[in-house]
This record gives sequence, structure tokens and C-alpha cells, in this order.
Amino acid sequence: MGAGISGLAAARTLQKSGATPVVFEASPVAGGRCATQEFLPYRFDSGATSIAPRGRSLEAVMLQELPKDGLLQVDKPIWTMEFGRVSRGDAVKMAITRYVYEQGINHLPKMLAQDLDVRYGIKVTQLEKNNSGYLVNGEAFDAVVLSAPLPENAELLEMVGEAWRIGGVRYRSCLSVLLGYEVPFEAPYHALIDPEQRNPVIWISVESVKSPNRAPEGHSAFVVQMGARFSSEHFQDSDYEIAREAQIMMARLFGEKFNTPAAIHVRRWQNSQPEIATSFETANRNGTTLILAGDALAGPRVELAYEVGVRAAQHLMQK
Ligand SMILES: Cc1cc2nc3c(=O)[nH]c(=O)nc-3n(C[C@H](O)[C@H](O)[C@H](O)COP(=O)(O)OP(=O)(O)OC[C@H]3O[C@@H](n4cnc5c(N)ncnc54)[C@H](O)[C@@H]3O)c2cc1C
Repeated sequence: MGAGISGLAAARTLQKSGATPVVFEASPVAGGRCATQEFLPYRFDSGATSIAPRGRSLEAVMLQELPKDGLLQVDKPIWTMEFGRVSRGDAVKMAITRYVYEQGINHLPKMLAQDLDVRYGIKVTQLEKNNSGYLVNGEAFDAVVLSAPLPENAELLEMVGEAWRIGGVRYRSCLSVLLGYEVPFEAPYHALIDPEQRNPVIWISVESVKSPNRAPEGHSAFVVQMGARFSSEHFQDSDYEIAREAQIMMARLFGEKFNTPAAIHVRRWQNSQPEIATSFETANRNGTTLILAGDALAGPRVELAYEVGVRAAQHLMQK
């Protein structure tokens, strides 16, 4: 269940081994937090900003198995912003190879989903045990992989008496503010991080520097991510209030021209990244055919979510 990176990895691995997986996806598109949003003439990666596969299995999938059109290595590093000042970032972090897709990061899950039976717009609301496996929304399956952020599986797990498997896993929320400007912007970095994470804004991705086709000539596009504290305290505030905080930081860093965006959109991620995680073994220790997957079992990164999905499939294949 769930056509995020983890669910797609599980389904893809199972399909390769000869199984016939079905993926139920609540939303109309694949990708979950690997999301791209277009507000013409701008295009933003509103969840994961880039992918740094660090030699994990996703790297071979991206570089050897999937079509590579639009795949780009991000050539500019991440710098820091502290006390309203921009400076060079950590040399080790700078050396990590990061990828994006010109079409948007969501191009990756789209490609992963292409040859799979993904049923879009179908939220799984019913889970029951039967003699040979499970009923998902009334349909029989031998095994089930639940790959939504773990707390979102609580109701389904309760239906089969296994809510305890979520343990203490908790996610933090994140508000992403997408801003487009009719002002050009050039920089020697593609993103800025606040290493202390004390300010409301902790991350700024310069989408139009990171990749071509994010903003027209003479324009610029940014994704401003708000920190965990600000995001939880202001999650229900109006878009106007949330965006205003982001605009204040933009003007402080880059000057008054960046106080007045031409496009503003606020994306609310209730379960953005796990802050209390668990391990695959802990969540799946009783050897069932109801497998929990997703990034809470490995860490808040695309390549780790993929790895968990592969692991879930391997666990089922062994059975
Ligand atoms: C703001 C932000 C910035 C990030 N930045 C980075 C980054 O730069 N680099 C990086 O590597 N990672 C980053 N991450 C983390 C990365 O996006 C995630 O770790 C990864 O995408 C998680 O994939 P997943 O498959 O585990 O979960 P998800 O992507 O959440 O997928 C779960 C899927 O399940 C579906 N679903 C949920 N409930 C149901 C249901 N009942 N029935 C059917 N479908 C359901 C959802 O619609 C969703 O598509 C970021 C995340 C956020 C939010």
C-alpha cells in the first residue's frame, strides 16, 4: 500500500521475482514525499530536494536500469546561512553526489511506477485477516506491505490487532513555502542550510539554480522549508502568515526585491520526516506476511526508503 518510493521499491522487487503485486495509492500520482508541483511558469520539488544515493541499490536503479533523460548531477554545493549571512558549507557534505531530474524529482517515482499495477486514487481503509492472507478493501492478497509513514497505518493495524507494531515512532511536520520571483538569481550554491536550526527557516533550495526548467529566463524559484518547531506551532496558520515568515528571511538574505514573490504556495507535510524511528527487525519481528515499510525503518532519505522497500520484498520472497 502506497506508491511512495518505499512501496514502489517493494512492488518492483516482487514483480521482478515473478509475483504480481498491486499498489493502492490514495492520491492521483505516485511519489508521496518525492513530489514536484508546477505553478506556471515555475516548477518546484516540494518534498525531497535531491537524491544522494551514496552507493545504495537506488543508485544502480537510477544510473543503469531506468531511462536517464533529465537525470542531472547537481553541480553546485550546499552553503550555510547563519545570522542572516551566507557562507561556504561543510566540505564533506559538499562532496556528496546529488541528483535531480530536470522534469522534477517526481519523475523518479513516475518511472518506477510505469510497469506496475498501481491503482491511483484508492485509499486503503479496510484490512482484515483471512485464512490464506489478508483482505485489502475486501480484495484478497497473500501478503501486504504497508508503506505509508508509520503513524498513518495505525487504524489499519488496529483492525488486525497489531497497532503495537508502530511502537514510539513519531514524525515531525514541515511547512514548505514555494516562491517564484520575476527577478533573476545566480549563486555559487544550489541550497542553503541553517546548521543550528534555530531560525524559523532551516533550508532554502534555489530550484532555478539546482536544475534548468524550473523558472523562465529572468525569473527565479525557491523552496523555503520551515523548521520542526515553527512548522508544528504554525501548521494551522493561514498560507499568508506562513509565507510571510519565509518572505522576511528571503528579503533579509537577498534584498528587498525578494519580499514580493510573483507566485506563492504553501505545502503542508504533516508527517515529513521520522524524528523517532525504529528498525526493520523491530517493526517486523514476528515474521508475518503483513510487512511494515517506509522511511521510519531506515531514515528520512529517498535512497533509504527505497532500501526498506527492497528489504520488505526480500522478506516476503524468502517466505
Ligand atoms: C520537506 C521534505 C524534504 C525532504 N528532503 C529530502 C532530501 O532532500 N533528500 C532525501 O533523500 N529525502 C528527503 N526527504 C525525505 C524523503 O522524501 C522520504 O524519506 C521518502 O520520500 C519517503 O518515502 P516513503 O515511500 O517511505 O513514504 P511516502 O513518500 O510518504 O509514501 C507513502 C505513500 O503512501 C500513500 N498512502 C498513505 N496512506 C495510504 C492509504 N491508506 N492508502 C493508499 N495509499 C496511502 C501516500 O499517498 C504516499 O504516496 C524529504 C522529505 C520532506 C517531507
